[in-house]
Amino acid sequence: MNLLHISHLQKTYNANSTHPVKALKEISFDVNPGEYIAIMGESGAGKSTLLNIIATLEKASAGEILLNGQDLSSLTADQAAKYRREHLGFIFQHFNLLNSLSNRDNIYLPLVLAKVPVAEMEKRIQPLAASLGIEQIIDRYPTEVSGGQQQRIAIARALITQPDLLLADEPTGALDSNTSNEILDLFDRVNANGQTIIMVTHSAAAASYAKRTLFIKDGRIYHELFRGDDSLKQ
Ligand code: ADP
Ligand code: ADP
Repeated sequence: MNLLHISHLQKTYNANSTHPVKALKEISFDVNPGEYIAIMGESGAGKSTLLNIIATLEKASAGEILLNGQDLSSLTADQAAKYRREHLGFIFQHFNLLNSLSNRDNIYLPLVLAKVPVAEMEKRIQPLAASLGIEQIIDRYPTEVSGGQQQRIAIARALITQPDLLLADEPTGALDSNTSNEILDLFDRVNANGQTIIMVTHSAAAASYAKRTLFIKDGRIYHELFRGDDSLKQ
């Protein structure tokens, strides 16, 4: 079964006004477990809208969206919040760490909210910290480490719940190009370990790391590119 099934998705903002905005006109694609997909497009193309609908933060106006067979459009707000906590991991452009908590406590936070026992939290953080190269900085605070290190902490926070799907919104948008490449190399390794990733970006350099890139413009997918495959597939 597909992990994510999106069929004829549409989103219209201000539908009942005199100036409706058709942010998504026709979006259809499937994601299999283990895929690493970039969604690329210019500002205003509809990327954030699509990501927000996948993230259950917004509802589509029409079409179908199923994650693990679950119809996301039927979730109430409370069910959606629970669904996000249990099934999704989020990574943002500006890291969104809490500066009042240590890096370790930032990473633990989603598990604390899920009432996971401390012993289990400690067990999970060790291999994660080693694989993300953050062992040396884990007991510092976010403001005491670099941007690239903060993003590594944010990746650990997203992965510690073992999400079905990792959603990254411009994850390298606030980083210089060397640091961006380090973070994208990490995503590669995380994906090689089986983690499914969807990354939204306007950066061609970032998108080139993904195994498959969907190009969107004006609310539609206009082509699809597979890494290591020069042919453009419609
Ligand atoms: P960013 O992606 O830069 O963090 P947002 O996701 O908030 O910003 O917005 C993305 C785009 O959607 C921007 O072009 C913004 O102008 C537009 N947008 C967001 N909210 C509204 C709104 N309520 N009405 C009209 N346009 C909006
Ligand atoms: P991108 O993330 O690719 O920059 P968005 O999904 O943010 O694109 O925006 C797609 C279109 O929808 C834009 O025309 C934007 O202004 C509009 N839009 C986004 N959010 C809102 C909103 N909350 N209300 C009205 N229009 C919006």
